[in-house]
Amino acid sequence: MELSSPITALNGVGAKRAALYAKLGIATVGDLLEHYPRRYIDLTGTMSIADASSERPCAVRATVTAKSPVKLVRRGLTVAKVRATDMQQDLLITFFNAKYTVDSLETGKEYIFFGDFVRRIGGGEMSSPTVISAEERGFIPQYPLTEGLSSKMITAQIKTAITECIDSVQETMSTDLLKKYSLCSKKEALCSIHFPKDEKSLEAAKRRIVFEELFDFSLAMSITKGKTRSTDGKVFKAVSTKPFESSLGFELTGAQKRVIAECQKDMSTTIPMNRLIQGDVGSGKTAVAAACMYVAAKNGFQSAIMAPTEVLAAQHEATLKKMLSPFGIKVGLLTGSMKQKEKNAVKAAVKSGEIDVLAGTHAIIQDDVEFAQLGLIVTDEQHRFGVRQRLALSQKGGAPHTIVMSATPIPRTLAFVLYGDLDISVLDEMPKNRLEVKTYLVGQDMEERVFAFVRKFAHRGLQSYIVCPLVENEEDGLSLEAATDLAKRIAEKELLGCRIGVLHGRMRPAEKERVMREFAENKIQVLVSTTVIEVGVDVPNAVCMVVENAERFGLSQLHQLRGRVGRGSEQSYCVLIAGKANAETKRRLEVVAKTTDGFKVAEEDLKLRGPGDFFGFRQSGVPMLKMADMMSDIALLESAKNAAAELIESDPLLERPENASLALRLNKLLSETAL
Ligand code: ADP
Ligand code: MG
Repeated sequence: MELSSPITALNGVGAKRAALYAKLGIATVGDLLEHYPRRYIDLTGTMSIADASSERPCAVRATVTAKSPVKLVRRGLTVAKVRATDMQQDLLITFFNAKYTVDSLETGKEYIFFGDFVRRIGGGEMSSPTVISAEERGFIPQYPLTEGLSSKMITAQIKTAITECIDSVQETMSTDLLKKYSLCSKKEALCSIHFPKDEKSLEAAKRRIVFEELFDFSLAMSITKGKTRSTDGKVFKAVSTKPFESSLGFELTGAQKRVIAECQKDMSTTIPMNRLIQGDVGSGKTAVAAACMYVAAKNGFQSAIMAPTEVLAAQHEATLKKMLSPFGIKVGLLTGSMKQKEKNAVKAAVKSGEIDVLAGTHAIIQDDVEFAQLGLIVTDEQHRFGVRQRLALSQKGGAPHTIVMSATPIPRTLAFVLYGDLDISVLDEMPKNRLEVKTYLVGQDMEERVFAFVRKFAHRGLQSYIVCPLVENEEDGLSLEAATDLAKRIAEKELLGCRIGVLHGRMRPAEKERVMREFAENKIQVLVSTTVIEVGVDVPNAVCMVVENAERFGLSQLHQLRGRVGRGSEQSYCVLIAGKANAETKRRLEVVAKTTDGFKVAEEDLKLRGPGDFFGFRQSGVPMLKMADMMSDIALLESAKNAAAELIESDPLLERPENASLALRLNKLLSETAL
């Protein structure tokens, strides 16, 4: 058997199972060896029932004393109860839909039960734990699965693959690198990642694999990006931003001042700035961007700012106009929904240099817009844009300085993956005099009282948002907007007499913009909408955010929504109405209710969804990193980047014979990755 043999070369893998493996992206025996465990059941610390904890999953040793018959409770649900003991305390185990497992348990025999544990007097309970033979030791790998393939099966087949093929595994990193960064060999890494002897060998294996992924990734990045950064950036003279600052009507926070200075410094050199500005919702990123545009304009350069939606683009135009036009800086807007004639006029003004700052959506800027002297590109809420769009942007002529603004706290490693090698500034200080938004989690039965609450605000001249999730229409499977229905209902009842507006995804952009404008001007008191308002909308007079069916939203999304209020000096509120929510969902929602710290919310969200879903790049494709953990491998990333930089410096095109196989591997990786 070879590493390149099809997976069917393994005993027990026929066409059917091969098709399942294909779903996991595994075609060959070699692929299987690189199918890494997602986690391990650690049996080095098996415990007695008395020692088990309800804080984290436990591996409990106990002997089965009795079994109830497997009962069919209702269609599709069977339950069986099993009693076990460790001679000191008792364990009551409930198994759901696990007839096979229950049947295989023998009374009088000892097992290890792994899973969540709940303490009861005189013992505890577990629900559908993983059953492991009492003889097992060490770490049991748990693999990413697909329906029809169990972790046990995969484990057995990997065992065979290792026995048969491990000797033909080639080392992929140079001896120098292995030595310099104290990495174990590839063979060792592969053996230990699947079947670690102990914690230490597991750590060593992970380290080696992650290092290599990050090393390859760093190399690929610098190769696709044309090796190094260009050095024909626009040099901006230092400009005092004092006049701009004192015209704002508020004092910039220390963090805003610091970040503006960091940007000014970057923009004063021939290396184009490439900076990520990260700040929680409401931290005042727009003012920072405006200050940089002010500097650009004073140097005779144009700026562009891009937003993911037309609503946001229009809002940026309005805000920037207010901030910059007192200085004779002309701000324009370009969006897809504008009439061709208007578009042409704006484009002409951008080309002639009459417009200094252009706000728009991404698609528009990518278009055939020509600038007279583009010096700075700002992208707002960037993680909504695809990787490809981003590259197209950075390749836009003349090496402009770039700023990316994001409200999502992005770990350093992941930022590197998403944006390449950029510098990060953090706005870690909220504007003063900002009151914390009070958040409440309530049930559906409270809806009427919530609307009464909203009405009171309207009577005081303050505004509210009511956000509904998208709902699927069961009949034709189309997604309907619940917003329209809800608006109709409350307009006739709870909010009778209030001025209500509706905003949803199916409206034409011009219509959306009109509604947003009316809301901003307080012509609309209550805005009922779907999540089109999620990012960036800024109406300081809005003080109440109601989210219907909050359980259907992601935690970070809820945090973003909450960030739409609490922007003025009034006490603001966020009310999350949970529809049918189980205990787990309630617990999740409580995270948002309990903290207003976006980093904490994001952390919880990341834990729940994993980075791929969280940042939405599963589709845009960064399959190079199977093992690297975006949250914690930061130190290793630094070393891997250094190692990659050294290699590129000594052999920029990877032409040396000793780098031939590396070059081959990178080419393969790059062709698989839609960068
Ligand atoms: P975000 O970082 O979420 O994009 P914005 O830039 O929209 O935040 O700013 C949120 C609100 O706070 C805006 O109304 C803005 O005018 C205001 N703001 C920005 N900086 C300050 C500050 N230093 N002091 C008071 N208000 C500020
Ligand atoms: Mg914003």
